[in-house]
Amino acid sequence: MCKFRNIKTGESTAAMKRFAVIGNPVAHSLSPRLHKYVFKKLGIDANYSAIQCTEKQFPEIIDRLRSGQLNGINVTLPLKQSVIPYLDVFDKHVKAIGAVNCIAVKNRKLFGHNTDWIGFQKALENAKIQVDGATCIIVGAGGAARSVGYALGMNNVKKFIIINRTTKRAEDLKQLILSIFPDVKIDISKWCELDLEVLYQALIVNCTSVGMVPNVNDCPVPEKYLLPSQTIIDIIYSPFRTKLYRVGQSIGTKTLSGLPMLIHQALASFDIWFNEPISEKVQMDELQDFLKQYC
Ligand code: NAP
Repeated sequence: MCKFRNIKTGESTAAMKRFAVIGNPVAHSLSPRLHKYVFKKLGIDANYSAIQCTEKQFPEIIDRLRSGQLNGINVTLPLKQSVIPYLDVFDKHVKAIGAVNCIAVKNRKLFGHNTDWIGFQKALENAKIQVDGATCIIVGAGGAARSVGYALGMNNVKKFIIINRTTKRAEDLKQLILSIFPDVKIDISKWCELDLEVLYQALIVNCTSVGMVPNVNDCPVPEKYLLPSQTIIDIIYSPFRTKLYRVGQSIGTKTLSGLPMLIHQALASFDIWFNEPISEKVQMDELQDFLKQYC
């Protein structure tokens, strides 16, 4: 039997719970630091590791979950969709979004959840960003854009404008959002096609990977379309201050980094795995300050 160090006492214990993030690549993931920090702060006897895993290797992880060697996992790129057929149960949010980022085990059964959309929603709430009735420009149309679109739809966004490099993916995202929220208006557009009235009041959410480390000076939005009256959310968290975030701040726009979303999706995973509101015990500001240094 594996021996693990008890966080509180320093002793080894077989009762320690084991969690992990799986994906490819995962070496850069902030999740182990985040989870270990919370375990330590709250005195929870648990460990969290990063496991490099391809789709082919996923059945091994399933075995480890069902046998109790792992008590729960987070799932990251490129596995968020491909793990779904392996699950016994998944909730209505997974069904709508078509992606899983958190798996829990109960009685050897695997339960799939999506906490990315919860993370985005909580980040909005905490930053006091109102989206009810708003027009939102989603930049990007990959996996994260689906969770963001779902969260915005759940919070009554009235109109979406999707801007993405590949039109086909923008069309797929449009159809997905419309299938869940048939009453919203959705346009697929280009920056140069937007009129000033739309730009003036827009909530812009960057869901592309443009601006991520190491390309920290790339901006997913041409700067001439950024205005002080907008609200800008960049869901990228590495770097903490992306080029889009920095430009937004320099012109006085309300800006939000992707780190709160990351933290809240992780805390929602804790609540699912432990079946209690662990997230309420965590000091967000402290945790964010701790993580910023690793972004
Ligand atoms: P994804 O499925 O691979 O989608 C990537 C998106 O970025 C696509 O829309 C893609 O456009 C666009 N893109 C990539 N390179 C581009 C370029 N050079 N020019 C224009 N567009 C480009 O990835 P994802 O899972 O959606 O993740 C996207 C970002 O969100 C990542 O940076 C990730 O770290 C971040 N994220 C953050 C959180 C959080 O908790 N804060 C959670 C999830 C993801 P095409 O469709 O044209 O390829």
